[in-house]
Amino acid sequence: MSNNKKVILFSAPSGCGKTTIIGRLLKYFDCFEFSISATSRAPRSGERNGVDYYYMSTAEFKERVQRGEFLEWEEVYEGTCYGTLRSEIERIWDNGHVILFDVDVKGGMNLKRHFGSNALSIFVMPPSVEELERRLRSRGTENEESIARRLKRSIDELQESGNFDHTVINDDLDRAVLEVKKLIEEFIYC
Ligand code: ADP
Ligand code: 5GP
Repeated sequence: MSNNKKVILFSAPSGCGKTTIIGRLLKYFDCFEFSISATSRAPRSGERNGVDYYYMSTAEFKERVQRGEFLEWEEVYEGTCYGTLRSEIERIWDNGHVILFDVDVKGGMNLKRHFGSNALSIFVMPPSVEELERRLRSRGTENEESIARRLKRSIDELQESGNFDHTVINDDLDRAVLEVKKLIEEFIYC
């Protein structure tokens, strides 16, 4: 069996550890490629255009929505949009790679509906909301307002884990990465 057109979806509230887990997985599997989303938020220090995200103004984002360029998109936080460009999917599949997505919970459910059995959807669960808050703070990327916005949204998002194929608790990072690695090895052939 081939990995033709397979995708792995990671969803969770912000700060649960998706980016960290995906970073580790990219070292284990050379058949994976990360889906670079478009966003209207500003780059964080150290983030690069075309590596972490495709950064664009809200006006450009909305124009490209109008042109039907997005497979899915969400205004994840008020005034801040994130989305998956159709061109990104074609780019990665043309390379013959399996796509790794890091999207919000609604986006994850939409993409699972779109890709069906070709998608493995994984919900990354924090050990507790207190620990999620600690991680968001320790990452040092958000101001107080942004932390509060993210935590508020996480309360609803955490209720949606049952809509994913698997839930992995990101308590100990090494353990969580191994659990995810095993799930992926059962789903694809590398
Ligand atoms: P997300 O991509 O879901 O927003 P990140 O991967 O950026 O989350 O992780 C948020 C913060 O938590 C980062 O500072 C990261 O280093 C830290 N982190 C991730 N996983 C763990 C873990 N298992 N234990 C402790 N800290 C973690
Ligand atoms: P951050 O600002 O922390 O990079 O991302 C905020 C949230 O937006 C995270 O939950 C992340 O998964 C989500 N996100 C990133 N890219 C996309 C995307 O293309 N589509 C959707 N729906 N959400 C995304």
